[in-house]
Amino acid sequence: MIDLRSDTITLPSAEMRKVMAQAPVGDDVFSDDPTVNALEQRTAEILGKEAAVFMPSGTMTNQVAVRTHTQPGDEILLDENAHIYFYEGGGTAALSGAICRLIPGTRGIFGAVEMEAAMRPVDVHYPQSKIVCVENTTNRGGGKVWPLEKLAEVQNSARENNLIMHLDGARIWNAAAALNVTEAEIAKFFDSVSVCFSKGLGAPVGSALVGSQDFILEARRFRKQYGGGMRQAGIIAAGALYALDNHRSRLAEDHANAKAFAQGLAEIPGIEINPGDVETNIIMFGLSKMTSAELIKRLGELDTHMLAMDSRSIRAVTNLMVTEKQISEALEQIRSILS
Ligand SMILES: *Cc1c(COP(=O)(O)O)cnc(C)c1O
Repeated sequence: MIDLRSDTITLPSAEMRKVMAQAPVGDDVFSDDPTVNALEQRTAEILGKEAAVFMPSGTMTNQVAVRTHTQPGDEILLDENAHIYFYEGGGTAALSGAICRLIPGTRGIFGAVEMEAAMRPVDVHYPQSKIVCVENTTNRGGGKVWPLEKLAEVQNSARENNLIMHLDGARIWNAAAALNVTEAEIAKFFDSVSVCFSKGLGAPVGSALVGSQDFILEARRFRKQYGGGMRQAGIIAAGALYALDNHRSRLAEDHANAKAFAQGLAEIPGIEINPGDVETNIIMFGLSKMTSAELIKRLGELDTHMLAMDSRSIRAVTNLMVTEKQISEALEQIRSILS
């Protein structure tokens, strides 16, 4: 089986399962779980922030961040394709009573000009613009990485306009690997950062929210309120800690595989892709001769799996389960189906 549907499909390795089985645990709601405490400390350290809190999912870390930063009626500025707006079940409205103001970015990236056009002046008629959320790498933007200068530009504008900066860094590890910088060099532009251990890093469960000591203390209250206070969570935190220490350095392989896949696709008639657009582990391509549903069905018969984005475009994502050899095989299969 060749599974390119997502980087969420990774399974824990034998070594990871072993550290999980042996992890020291305690009641984390009492802050008694040594493995969760170690993971939170290590994550905060890597991100260059004061504190972190472990949660079951990235949706929860983002939604708790929004809830902690806002009051009902406040407004969040974010790209129109942002995960927080697009894929979190309307959580910002349901859980925080916050309104989303959408910025028309390019593959998920925007600058100060676009952001300022979306901001509200201080006036009783308007909701209060409160946070700007950035996603790095961009999910629906096809794994695009924010240039650091662009982050600095957005941060300057946010400061001038009294906006809090939140980063949805589900794939911050990929962004750091692609730019060859530390995660802290990206996180330094933000007040809070959400990171994921279960995508590219390959842990079975978990995300963390990172920020100042005071912010994380308040976020813990909302985590509990949302039902995210877990007890002997060290079992899963151990997988995340293992992933953090062992799988960040191999992300360049996923990026090389994605690049090779894009370059191979570009040579197949009927496929539309610019390999230069592939910066990390996500590959988006268009189809001119066949619908996505048809190609996905034919590939599925060969036990190769990808996701349709719409009727004529497909997404593939490399991850630690995908080998260089599988990339060549998948290319061969697509070539033969389309010829
Ligand atoms: C996957 C993802 C999340 C969170 O997803 P969960 O499945 O809830 O862990 C958040 N933001 C981005 C950009 C993502 O890709």
